[in-house]
Amino acid sequence: MSGTHRLWRAVARAREAFAAPAGAGLRVLGYHSVGPAIPGDPYGLSTSAAVFARQMALIASGRFGAPVSLGGARLDGGAEIAVTFDDGYLDTLTTAAPILAGLSLPFSVCVTPGLLDAGRPHLSWPELKELARVPGCEIGAHGLTHARLDSADDARLSRELSESRRRLEEALGRPVTVMTWPHGAASARTADAARAAGFVRAGCSLYGSNGPDRNPLLLKRTEIVGFDDERDFAGKASGTWDWFALRQGDPAKK
Ligand SMILES: [Zn+2]
Repeated sequence: MSGTHRLWRAVARAREAFAAPAGAGLRVLGYHSVGPAIPGDPYGLSTSAAVFARQMALIASGRFGAPVSLGGARLDGGAEIAVTFDDGYLDTLTTAAPILAGLSLPFSVCVTPGLLDAGRPHLSWPELKELARVPGCEIGAHGLTHARLDSADDARLSRELSESRRRLEEALGRPVTVMTWPHGAASARTADAARAAGFVRAGCSLYGSNGPDRNPLLLKRTEIVGFDDERDFAGKASGTWDWFALRQGDPAKK
């Protein structure tokens, strides 16, 4: 457990007493790996399978709103919650997907073709197709090479967006219209480029929930990490960690 996580947890718990009722709107949760801790990882990118299973059971209970995929969300202000994965780790298929399918929960997996090309610990292309066949699974893009796109020039930005989409659609034989921003790096300019490239929904890394007025190409997303205990998780899913956005800055204003 990192010292910073302990500090942030203390702030979130201090705010629990003052928290507004569970925020309406679409709450998007962001995961990376589900399984054993990654050696030397200071960010808690991997959530253990047992903890993830408990978290998903809480979501399936409906306590945080209707479970939806990124593409399937109504975004009409009603309480909804989406589970998303970035990068395309192999354990999304082998560990997370069976838990989600067992609870009939929809989920969205946003993958980077360049990382799939590179091999382990990421999915191979045949494994991605297998994942896409799991009931409730939506596949989205996560850049072509995992570069930060807010600092890419217009030509590079356009290529990263269009090529990621084209390669995934070609491999899967179905439309790919959602994505998440690599490193959470996005801005009003990248959102316009994503819309031009054919995406309709995209998640960034800003904590918070999304109402009907939120730019759908810059959806707020709350990251779940391996350090989160059950109270941290419930707080993140219901908004007591949203103060964290103050540290981040809204990409919609960049
Ligand atoms: Zn990523």
